[in-house]
Amino acid sequence: MTVRTRFAPSPTGFLHLGGARTALFAWAYARRHSGTFILRIEDTDLERSTPEAVQAIIEGMLWLGLQHDEGPFFQMQRMDRYREVIAQMLEQGTAYHCYTSPEEVEAMREKQRAAGKKPRYDGTWRPEPGKALPAIPAGRKPVVRFRNPQDGEVTWNDAVKGPITISNQEMDDLVIARPDGTPTYNFCVVVDDWDMKITHVIRGDDHVNNTPRQINILKSLGAEVPVYGHVPMILGADGEKLSKRHGAVSVMDYPAQGFLPEAMLNYLARLGWSHGDEEIFTMEQFCAWFDLNHLTKSPAQFNPEKLAWLNNHYIKAADNARLASLVRPVLEAEVGETSGGPDLQAAIELMKERAHTINDLALSCSMFYKEPRPDQGLMAEHLIEGVKPALSEYASQLKSVTWNRAALSALMKGLLATHKLKMPQLAMPLRLMLTGQLQTPSIDAVVELIGRDTAVARIEKYL
Ligand code: GLU
Repeated sequence: MTVRTRFAPSPTGFLHLGGARTALFAWAYARRHSGTFILRIEDTDLERSTPEAVQAIIEGMLWLGLQHDEGPFFQMQRMDRYREVIAQMLEQGTAYHCYTSPEEVEAMREKQRAAGKKPRYDGTWRPEPGKALPAIPAGRKPVVRFRNPQDGEVTWNDAVKGPITISNQEMDDLVIARPDGTPTYNFCVVVDDWDMKITHVIRGDDHVNNTPRQINILKSLGAEVPVYGHVPMILGADGEKLSKRHGAVSVMDYPAQGFLPEAMLNYLARLGWSHGDEEIFTMEQFCAWFDLNHLTKSPAQFNPEKLAWLNNHYIKAADNARLASLVRPVLEAEVGETSGGPDLQAAIELMKERAHTINDLALSCSMFYKEPRPDQGLMAEHLIEGVKPALSEYASQLKSVTWNRAALSALMKGLLATHKLKMPQLAMPLRLMLTGQLQTPSIDAVVELIGRDTAVARIEKYL
């Protein structure tokens, strides 16, 4: 059997974290089994679906690198197929026309609720052997209902939740086509899963109630029933459903805030799935390990600090040229043109250790691309008369010293010894002069990065 999974978002907004995680699991499962991953856009809700949302989903998937092998298929382009299947079902008697009006259905439900019963369609138009159906009301267009089995039960072994059994008596006859002939949501999903030969349906557990109905329809069509795995939702740290209150919920807000896709993927992979104690892993490892047995049954909690920690890990591991291409636009928005300043990759190498986001990294690099404007009070405090001779000797020797970290460090050590000074006595005023700040990487690294002429000029300005 070739594994075929799908991600089937409704394009009604951005790609949110929960959707991205579902997509990741479905993608990884296909990869793990050398299968096929399908992207299907469930756009039949015409009022809520937008082309912008389709674009946002595709962009989000692209940023994460969750490439689909087939699709995107659009349900709105498959209407003829759904109609064809409905016609077949009417012919075979697994579906029937129902002329009960929506008002009548509502009244029926009202009555059942009042009697303390579960509201359901009462089966007026359901054909049975020997049963006479009412006269068709003039001018009324029927809906099509699925003839759900009345006995027995539906059982499936959910790959996440374990065995689930629902009695058929719990389910009434689902409307599969509206009076204008358009198919309903559950029906389109079934026909698609069938036609697309989906073997594993991995989706959010908000769909678990649809599954027994979908299984019954699949069976009535003589279709193979896929494996279902319903992934619990993602909660905020406070245990509430994840929402904007907990931070960004749209995947594409994360590149905007300076997150790397590999950090996001690694983070999402661990939300509700585990492989021993592994916290940091590549997507190759994830695809080799991923199975449905290690998905947790309880909802996962979104933890922004952990995501930031992972992002820091991946920033440290990332190639500086790649980081520079991400940092440069953010940095230039802050300081303007950077081409006259130090080599950005070298600046990044100095600053990446502590950066939690690309935006952090750009901000910390920005001190190397701005004219330093040290606080006058701080300058007066650190640039005392006693250190000026050593500083001016430093500036003059900088003009000819070999330009590397080791030589700069030897120069500094020599001066500290001759002038009987401690490192901070020289380093602090130098930091202020060179960057306007007291907190910088080691002074040798800063001087090396800033370059000979700029460093000398910035120091001499104060002497
Ligand atoms: N379109 C549904 C959603 O976005 C998913 C349906 C499914 O995976 O079966 O929630």
